Amino acid sequence: MTVPIFPSLDIPETLAAGPGPGNTDPRVLQAFAGAGLADHMQADVLRGMIECKQMLRAVWGTGNTYTFAVAGTGWSGLDAMFSAVMPGDGVVAFCNGTFSGIDALTLRIKAATPAEHAADPLDPQAASVTVIELPHGQSVTGAMVEAALAEHKPKWAFMAHWETGSGRVNDLRGFSDACARHAVMGLVDAVSSLGVDDFSIDDYPGVAGWASCPQKGLCCLPLTYAPVSFSDAYIASLRASGAYSYVHNPIFEARHWGIVDGHDVEKGTYHRTHSGYAVAAFHEALRLTLQAGLAKRAGSYRRHERVVRDAVSAMGCAVTSDMPSLVVLTLPPQLAGREMELVQACRAEGFGIWPTLSAPVQVRIGILNQLNRQAISRIVRLFADALHDLGGQVDFDALEALLESRYGTSIAA
Ligand SMILES: *Cc1c(COP(=O)(O)O)cnc(C)c1O
Repeated sequence: MTVPIFPSLDIPETLAAGPGPGNTDPRVLQAFAGAGLADHMQADVLRGMIECKQMLRAVWGTGNTYTFAVAGTGWSGLDAMFSAVMPGDGVVAFCNGTFSGIDALTLRIKAATPAEHAADPLDPQAASVTVIELPHGQSVTGAMVEAALAEHKPKWAFMAHWETGSGRVNDLRGFSDACARHAVMGLVDAVSSLGVDDFSIDDYPGVAGWASCPQKGLCCLPLTYAPVSFSDAYIASLRASGAYSYVHNPIFEARHWGIVDGHDVEKGTYHRTHSGYAVAAFHEALRLTLQAGLAKRAGSYRRHERVVRDAVSAMGCAVTSDMPSLVVLTLPPQLAGREMELVQACRAEGFGIWPTLSAPVQVRIGILNQLNRQAISRIVRLFADALHDLGGQVDFDALEALLESRYGTSIAA
C-alpha cells in the first residue's frame, strides 16, 4: 500500500465576513506564533491562565469565581455548561435557529434516561425536556419565558442570547427575570454576543451558567478557549449531582485555572495538557478586548452594522435580523430563491459570506473585527458586485454616496 504524502497545505487568506469566525487579530496571531515551547505546568503558562481568568471576569462583568475557559470551540464550552444537567432533569429550552437547535439536542442528550437513549440514540426524546420552537426569524421574549416556566416548573431553562442562525437577539433581561421569579437556573449560549455586546453577567442573576467561544467577538480563532462562567448555585448543583464527564466537568476543569473548592488559589493544578501557544493567544485577545473597551466596541458594531444594513436595503434586499454583528437578508424579489447561488459565487472568490443553515435559505453577512470604513466599504462593494453579476440592479453611484455620507465626516472607526 502506498502512503500518500500530500504537498504542504496552503490555506488562502479570505475575507471572513460570515457569522464567525471573524478575522483573527494580527496581535493574537503574533502572540500564538511568538510563544516559546513550554509545558502546561510551566510558571508563565500558569500565570497566563490566572491572568486570563481575571481579564475574563472583567470582560464579562462578573464576580463569579467559576469564570474560566474550556479548551476548544464554542460547543466545548457549551458541553461543559450542560454537563450539570442530569438524566430526568426538568428543562425548558427555547429554539429559534440552528444553534439553539443544537443546544436543545445537547440538552435532550444530557437529560435523557438510559431507556430514552436506547430508543433513539442519536436523537433521544427526553420526556423531561420541553423544547419551545419559534418560527425562523423570531426572537424569544420575556413573556414567552415567563409563561413556559410557570407552566413546566423546570430545574433548568435555556436560551441563546444571540441566535446566529437567523441573526436574532433574544430577551436576556426577560429570561433572567423569569428564571429568578420561578427559582429556575438559567443557562445561556452567549457564543456570539461576548465581546460584541456590552453586557455584564452580574446584571442577570437568574442566569446560572454562561458559555461562549473564542473566535467570534474575541477575534481569537487559533483553536483556543471557550469562556464559561457559573454562579455559586450552579456549582452547588453540580457538586451535588456530579456529571458524566471528567474533562468537561466545570469543577475539575477550573482547577487548572487556579479555582479550587470555590476559591482562587495561587496557581493551577493539572487537568489536561494546555498549550502555551493557545494561552498566549487567548491572553492577547482578552487584552485587546479590554483595551478597545466593550462599550466603545459595542457602539462601533451597531454603527457599522447600520451601514451594511442600509446599503443592502438600498440594493433591494430585505433584512430580517437585529444582531449588531450580522446582517441576515433575503434577495430582491427578482432574484428570489437564488440566495445559495449568490453565496457560493462569493465564497468561490474568497468573500466568505454564509447562507442560513436552516430553511428558508437567506444570506448572512458578518462584520466581526471589521470595524472601520475601509473594511465595511469592501464588504458592501463585494456584495454589490455579486448581486450585479447575478443579474440584479445595483446603483453603484448611490452606494458610494451612501458610504460617503456615513463615513465622510464623523464616524471613522
Ligand atoms: C458559533 C455558534 C456556536 C458554535 O460555536 P463553535 O465555535 O462552532 O463550536 C454555538 N452557538 C452559537 C449561538 C453560535 O453562534
